[in-house]
Amino acid sequence: SYGFSNLEAIPLDPHYALKEAFADDPSAKKVILGSGIYRDGNSEPWVLPSIEERKAEKEVDEHKSSARYEYLPISGYAPFVTVARDLLFGRYGAKADHFVSLQTISGTGANSLGAQFLSKSLRPSAVWLSNPSWVNHSNIWGLVGVKVKYYPYWDAQKKTLDFDSMVKKLETETVSGDVILLHACAHNPTGVDPTKEQWAKIADICESRGLFPFFDSAYQGFASGDLDEDAWALRHFVSRGTLELVAAQSFSKNMGLYGERVGALHLLTSSPEAAAKAKGHLCQLQRGQISQPPRRGAHLATAILTNQVLFQKWLIDLHEMSSRIKSMRQALYEELVSLGTPGKWEHIISQIGMFSYTGLSSVQVETIQSESHVYILKSGRISVPGCEFSFEGVNAANVKHVAK
Ligand code: PMP
Repeated sequence: SYGFSNLEAIPLDPHYALKEAFADDPSAKKVILGSGIYRDGNSEPWVLPSIEERKAEKEVDEHKSSARYEYLPISGYAPFVTVARDLLFGRYGAKADHFVSLQTISGTGANSLGAQFLSKSLRPSAVWLSNPSWVNHSNIWGLVGVKVKYYPYWDAQKKTLDFDSMVKKLETETVSGDVILLHACAHNPTGVDPTKEQWAKIADICESRGLFPFFDSAYQGFASGDLDEDAWALRHFVSRGTLELVAAQSFSKNMGLYGERVGALHLLTSSPEAAAKAKGHLCQLQRGQISQPPRRGAHLATAILTNQVLFQKWLIDLHEMSSRIKSMRQALYEELVSLGTPGKWEHIISQIGMFSYTGLSSVQVETIQSESHVYILKSGRISVPGCEFSFEGVNAANVKHVAK
């Protein structure tokens, strides 16, 4: 029969479910450590000073232009995709005519467009995700009909990367042409990245097993504060000259442009001919979905990336964000230790990026929520820089309370 009453019920995404439960809690002491958003020391949203300055300038420069609401091309704002590519790959990483780059609806749109393209062009038998991975990865790949498989990643006992198991799985169970999803830096949700030696080994495996690397770069510059360091793994793969690959790039976190949806998808191919053909396919997919990406955020990001003065200011902003996260990690760690909390907590400070995989079990998380009104995802992942004052995230004012 027709009608939506026959639809299978789909549970709300865990982040949004947690937010709803939090909103319904009347306690004045409630705290949520859920969302992947940066807040300043007062737990307020933070417009990066470099972006703010550019906006002031934009009022003057572009507000008068009658073209300011025009459509962009299907592949996006050309100056943006070029500088975004260079930021990620480094200027001399590979020949420019081997790349195809499209502006996307931020990192999510890039992941989604990339998944659609690869599902059709490579017809992989599976995509391999880290266990665990960003929750939307399995959703995105599931939606394009590619089988999702997992490689071991997190060692829950040692609270570290289980590299041996990861290698073993990839070396024995992958099939040539499979896609492997890799977090360029600041792995979400664990905050644990491979070392450079381990990255080189992963690249070896991609070569020997014929795996297609799909890098997801959502935290460049935000993780370590250093744009090149956070792109090291991706650039190492490129430097080998043997691998075609895809990279999804987001400016949500590193430019604080969350709601503007600024991102890009980059495909590195083995020849200019391959790039030209792939571009046709990608533009067809993009056309069918969004026709053209939005204009405003791409202009903002391009200004930061092309104007030397703004770029230098942005580096300071990146440093401010990454340092504040590091100091909040340190503060939380010290409170946990001084409270004599059972277990080891060094992982809170050794993990990088905005997330910490605490190692708390789902039962512990539930207990903390019901008894202390502190809201944490069931996986035990917390967002360190968090959100609204006295409500979300860890800040100097609430760190004692959160630790307790
Ligand atoms: N990939 C990863 C690993 C992420 O953590 C995020 C943000 N949570 C994204 C992609 C995409 O974010 P956005 O769509 O805002 O760029």
